[in-house]
Amino acid sequence: SFPADQVPQAPEDPLFFLMRTYRADESPNKVDLGIGAYRDDDAKPWVLPVVKKSTYDSAPPASADEVLRSDPNLNHEYLPIAGLASFTSKAAELILGSDSPALAEERTTSFQTISGTGAVHLGAAFLAKFYRGNRTVYLPDPTWANHKQIFGNVGIPSATYPYFDKSTKGLDFEGMKAALSAAPEASIILLHPCAHNPTGVDPTLDQWKELADLVKQKKHFPFFDCAYQGFASGDLDKDAAAIRYFVAQGFEMLIAQSFAKNFGLYGERAGCFHAVTAPHADATSTIGRISSQLAIVQRSEISNPPIYGARVASTVLNDVALFSEWTENLKTMSGRIIAMRKDLREKLEALGTPGTWNHITDQIGMFSYTGLSEEQVLKLRSDAHIYMTKNGRISMAGLNTKNVNYVAKAFDKVNG
Ligand code: PMP
Repeated sequence: SFPADQVPQAPEDPLFFLMRTYRADESPNKVDLGIGAYRDDDAKPWVLPVVKKSTYDSAPPASADEVLRSDPNLNHEYLPIAGLASFTSKAAELILGSDSPALAEERTTSFQTISGTGAVHLGAAFLAKFYRGNRTVYLPDPTWANHKQIFGNVGIPSATYPYFDKSTKGLDFEGMKAALSAAPEASIILLHPCAHNPTGVDPTLDQWKELADLVKQKKHFPFFDCAYQGFASGDLDKDAAAIRYFVAQGFEMLIAQSFAKNFGLYGERAGCFHAVTAPHADATSTIGRISSQLAIVQRSEISNPPIYGARVASTVLNDVALFSEWTENLKTMSGRIIAMRKDLREKLEALGTPGTWNHITDQIGMFSYTGLSEEQVLKLRSDAHIYMTKNGRISMAGLNTKNVNYVAKAFDKVNG
C-alpha cells in the first residue's frame, strides 16, 4: 500500500514564500524587489500595448488581442504535439536569426513548451533518454534556483562552475574557464545567453568566443537557457549574439526560450524548445530522428501545449507593424530598468553608502546582485518592508521613481 505517512514535508519554494509574505504585509511603504516580473512606474503589472491596448488610437491591427478577438474562425481545438507552427517557426528565427545557416540547412527542430521552464524540462528529459556523454549538467554558481531540480527530476545530476566574482561583483571568467576545462569531456554545460539570473552579469562577446573554443575543445554539449531576449540590452539581436555565435561555430546544441518576460505573458506559459544539429551531410535526417523522439516525450507529458499565449506571440511575430511596435514596448521596459539602475546608484553614491555601487549599472537585465548579506536582507524586510531574495538579488523592475529614494535610504541604513 501507499506509505502516505512516510512522505516527508517539503520546504515551500522560497520565491513563492517571499511573494506570499509581501502580499500579507500591510505597510503602505512596502516594496517588492523579489518578483521576477516587470512592473511599471506605479509598481503595477504591465500588459504590453502590443498584446492588449486599453484604447485603440491607431489603425487596426493595433494589438494582438484585437486581431484575435476579430477572428470569427477562432476555436479552441488542440494544437499539434509540437505546438503552433506559425509560432515555433518565428520563435526559431527570433533566437537564431532569420538568416541562420542552421535554418537554411534544415537542421533545427522546434517544440512549443510550457514557457521556459517547460523548455528546460523537455531538453533535460530528452538528454536523460539519449545523452551518451558525461551525464552531468554544469550549472553556473549561482543560477536560477529551478535548474538543479528540473535536471534532478529526470535523473541528471548537476555540478557547478564558478560564475560570480564576489569581490568585483562581475564575472569570474578565469574560474569559469578553469572549471569547464577541469570537467570531464562531453559534459552538459548550461549557459544563460543574456541577462544572467540572478546576477545580471554576462560574458562579453569576446569572452563568449573564448568559451566556445573551450567548449569545443572539451567536446562539451551546450544547453542555452534564454529567458530574457530583448530585455537585457533592449535589442533582440544583440541579446541572441552568444547563441548565434555558437551556431556559426557548428555546435550541436539545445535552446530553451521563454516569452514570459519579453512579451509579459508570464501566466500564459508561452515558450519554445529548439534542438540544433551540427552541419554535416546527414543533418536533416538526424534532426528528423531527434524530432520524432521529442514528440514522444512531449506527448507523454503534456500531450500538446497551451494555445493562447502562443497565438498572441505568433500574431505579433508574423506581422511587420506589430513586430515593430513590440520592439518599442521592449525598449520601454529595458529603458525604465536602465534608468532605475542609474537612479539607485546615484542615490547610494550621493548618500556616501559604504562600498562601491558601479555594479548596479554594470549589471544588466531584470536583476541585480547587490552584494547585501542575508542578515541585511532580513533587516530590510523587517525594518523597511523591502522584500528581496536572501542572496541579495533585487529585481530592478520593482523600483520606480516613487520608491527609489526610500530604497536607497534603507540600503544606506543597513550598510552603515
Ligand atoms: N530560465 C531562467 C534563467 C529564468 O530566469 C526563468 C524565469 N525566472 C526561466 C527559465 C523560466 O521562466 P518561465 O517558465 O516563466 O518562462
